[in-house]
Order: sequence, then structure tokens, then C-alpha cells
Amino acid sequence: MEHHEIYIDGNWVPALKGAYRSIINPYNQEIIAEVSEADRGDTKKAINAARKAFDQGEWSGVSATKRGKMVYELGDLIEKNRSQLAEMETLNTGKTYTESLWDMDDIAGIFRYYGGLADKIGGEVIQSPNPNSHSRLEREPVGVVGLICPWNYPLLQAAWKIAPSLAAGCTMVIKPSELTPLSTLAFTKLTEEIGFPHGVINTVTGPGESVGAELAESLDVDMISFTGGVVTGKKIMQAAAGNVKKIALELGGKNPHILFAESDWETAVDFIMNGVFFHAGQICSAGTRVMLEASIHDRVVALLADRIKKIKLGSGMEEGTQMGPLISEAQLLKVEEHVNLAVREGAKLVCGGKRPTDKSLKKGFFYEPTLLTDCHPGMSIVREEVFGPVIHIEQFETEDDVIQHANDTIYGLSAGFWSNDPERIERVSKALRFGTVWVNDFNIYFTQAPWGGYKQSGVGRELGRIGLEEYTEIKHVYQNFKPQPLQWFGSKS
Ligand code: NAD
Repeated sequence: MEHHEIYIDGNWVPALKGAYRSIINPYNQEIIAEVSEADRGDTKKAINAARKAFDQGEWSGVSATKRGKMVYELGDLIEKNRSQLAEMETLNTGKTYTESLWDMDDIAGIFRYYGGLADKIGGEVIQSPNPNSHSRLEREPVGVVGLICPWNYPLLQAAWKIAPSLAAGCTMVIKPSELTPLSTLAFTKLTEEIGFPHGVINTVTGPGESVGAELAESLDVDMISFTGGVVTGKKIMQAAAGNVKKIALELGGKNPHILFAESDWETAVDFIMNGVFFHAGQICSAGTRVMLEASIHDRVVALLADRIKKIKLGSGMEEGTQMGPLISEAQLLKVEEHVNLAVREGAKLVCGGKRPTDKSLKKGFFYEPTLLTDCHPGMSIVREEVFGPVIHIEQFETEDDVIQHANDTIYGLSAGFWSNDPERIERVSKALRFGTVWVNDFNIYFTQAPWGGYKQSGVGRELGRIGLEEYTEIKHVYQNFKPQPLQWFGSKS
């Protein structure tokens, strides 16, 4: 059995209390590794190491071009170790190996993108009222950052944070989810091949309530970048108030996927399937909330039901598997509860709605791909994030109604709609209050375009140029070339 330690100041060390957590494969509940379970004491040590490295300019003092080259090289290392990392991700999360390979390719691209951007961080000359002065804006690294990550895309979500913060010149403490730390630990090991100064990268595994909370509360951490649930995001916001630290929050979503009758709705069905059953619906941007114009409702439901019944469940490592298990027993119970409540509230169960009976899936946290119809905006399933393989369908009659209902949510991460009417496309894209709006597509994101939510889906943006700027402070430098004696309080007054 593999044992993993935590990484502080360039050394692999056991947690101070010597505790370990068993990491399991959600496909069969087998223990796949033992990982050091850190707590607040270990986290403080990691923060101190990052603080010292930042304050001594160990990393921010390196030229941006050299920094960028080192970040870029991480992309090459990910590519070189692509298959081992992907297998590890699949064993730890249950997602299919193909999906994990896509994640690794994405991650390599993210390090290369931000590596290339490192020496393109620019400033600005601004006009001042004094002609004998020079006034400019500079971007500087924000300092020590705490990077708190979720379990659904363990290394991908970490890369969204690590790559831009390294490129900006920050030092960091990375905290993977306690359920899925393996790929982040393997990545940390790879960073040693590049030779980052000690203290720049620290990785601490352990519970959110101690390791995560310590990062959020610490007066020595300048910024928290967090991806996870809204409830945790709110706790982090409060904890961050202690030193008014900067926060970037990527939280949950309840993402409408709307089909207008004039659209190519048969193609849209492929995108609905992809938007929900990818990684068993455990995606912040999952399009579980499907809204169909009444005249196409029955035909789309029939098509979906037919497709859903054919989804092949199994081990993520087996060829042909289309959907793996959920991450944990707790997540399985949560999804079950959502579906049962929806049925009690009047939803009609078309297919799924239970754990599979197949013997080979008995040990895993599997839930059948599920289709519910007859849902309406007042129901809990329409209002709350499910994070599982469940489509729930609402019917609508008019454009105004569907926009009003789609926007009637505390979330605002992403939305998509299908239409072939150019004027409608303009109107609806403008009216939807979400951080990303897809037109005739769904769930496509890429490194160059910013990602983040309106409303309770988050604060700030990841990816794109702005995803790097989040890790910087803006400094205004004003230089007076010819200071003149002052009248007011001056020596001659
Ligand atoms: P979570 O909020 O339970 O945990 C996320 C991380 O926060 C974990 O590392 C956890 O240990 C840590 N944490 C828990 N309590 C903490 C505390 N009090 N202080 C500091 N850290 C703490 O979320 P999860 O269950 O791991 O992930 C699922 C959620 O993440 C879903 O709501 C999903 O929508 C969201 N998510 C959002 C995006 C996005 O881009 N918006 C991407 C992926 C996941």
C-alpha cells in the first residue's frame, strides 16, 4: 500500500500527529492509498514556508520569462506522465479513463498557456494632472495564496489555480479534497523535477474544517482561491474577513439548458446527454435543468429516455464504460434524496431513480441515470444543485416565461439554449444572468475564456488572462519630477 506524506518547504514530511487517511476507489471501495492527515499545526508550518519564500522574493524576484518557462515545463511533464496521472484520477474519482485523459491534456495546456502569459503581464501609463510627473500602474503578485480544491476534477481544478498563481509570482499552499488527493500529490512530486525554490509550492492534505479553515483564517495568507460548494464558500468568506484577504470563489451551479422549438433539437439531445452524464453529473456546470418548449416536449423526452437506458455503467478503467460511480456513499444518499423528494413533490419518473441491481456494480456508489418530467420552478430539485446523473424537465410556452424561470435561481454559473432565430439569440443571450451562456452548444469551456459565476455561483473569474490577473495587486506609482514649494502648510506660507 502506498503511503503519502505532505510537502512543506521542499520536504516530504509526515503530519505532526502521525495520522493517515485511507483513500478509496469509489468503484469498489478498495483502499488504494494511505495519505497523511494534516491539521492546523501542519498547515501553519506550510503557510510559514510560503510566507518566507514570498517575503524573501524567492519566486517573485525571478524574471517573468524564467518563471514562465518553468510553468510551461510543468505542461510538458503532465504530458509525459499523462497515462499514469489519468489512471490515478480514474481510480480515485470513478470517472472514465477517457475523461481523465482529456483532463490531463487540458491541464498540460493550462500550464503552457499561463507559462506563455507570465512575461506578458503588463502595466499602464496613465495621465496625471501634473505635466512634470509620471504616473503608472503595475501588477504585482498578491503574495501567499491558499488554493482549496474540490473532488470532482481534482488536478484540473487545482491547475486552474496553480498555473496562474505561479505565473504571477505567488507562493502557495495547495489543499486538495480529502477524498481525492492522489493526483495533486503526484503533481507536487513532479514539480521537484523543475526545481522551484523551496517554499514556493506546499501541498497539505487533510480535512476542510482544519486545514482549509486554517488557510482561510490565517493572517499570513493574502488570498484564498476556492472551488467547492456554496455553504463552504460562505464560511470561507467569513473566515477571510480576519485580514480582509482577497477571495476568488468558484461555487455551485443550477444550469438551465433550454430548447426552443425552431432549433435543431435532435442534435441538442446529444449535448443534453453530454451535459449531464459526463462524470455522472458531478460537474458544477451540469445542465440538469432541461427546459423544453411545449411543442417539442414529448419527442425530446422520448429520445432522451431511449438514450439514457443505453448508458453503460461500470469501472472507469474498463473500455466501453460510459459512466462511473458517484464519489462517495454520502453523495449517493444525497442524489437519492433529491430524486425521492422530487417524486413526492409531483415529478414523474421516466427512467432510473434507483441504484442499479447488477451484481458487478454492487460495491460501487452507482446510481442509475435518471429522467424526471413534470417539474416546475417551485420544486426543490429545480432549485437545488443535485450533483448527480439526473435530468429534470420543465415545459414552457413563451420566451418571456422561460427567461424569467431560468433566471429565478440563486445560482448564475452557466446556461445554454438552442435556437435558429438570430433575433431571439441576441435577446436571450442578453437576458440570461449567468457567467457563461452557450448558444447551440453546451458545457464547452477552454483555457483562453474566463469561467465563473454571477450571484451565489461565485466571486471572480478563473482561466483566461483575467484568471491570472486575479492573483495580482494593482499598484499606482506616481513620480513628481519637479516638486514645487507648497502654499498650504508649506515653508513659505
Ligand atoms: P466542498 O465545499 O465540500 O469542499 C471543497 C473543498 O473545501 C474541499 O477541499 C474541502 O476539504 C474544503 N473545505 C470544506 N470545509 C471547509 C472550511 N470550513 N474551510 C475551508 N475549506 C473547507 O465541495 P466539494 O463537495 O468538494 O465539491 C462539490 C462542489 O464544488 C459543488 O457544489 C460544485 O458545484 C462545486 N464546484 C464548482 C466549480 C466551479 O467552477 N464553479 C467546479 C467544481 C466544483
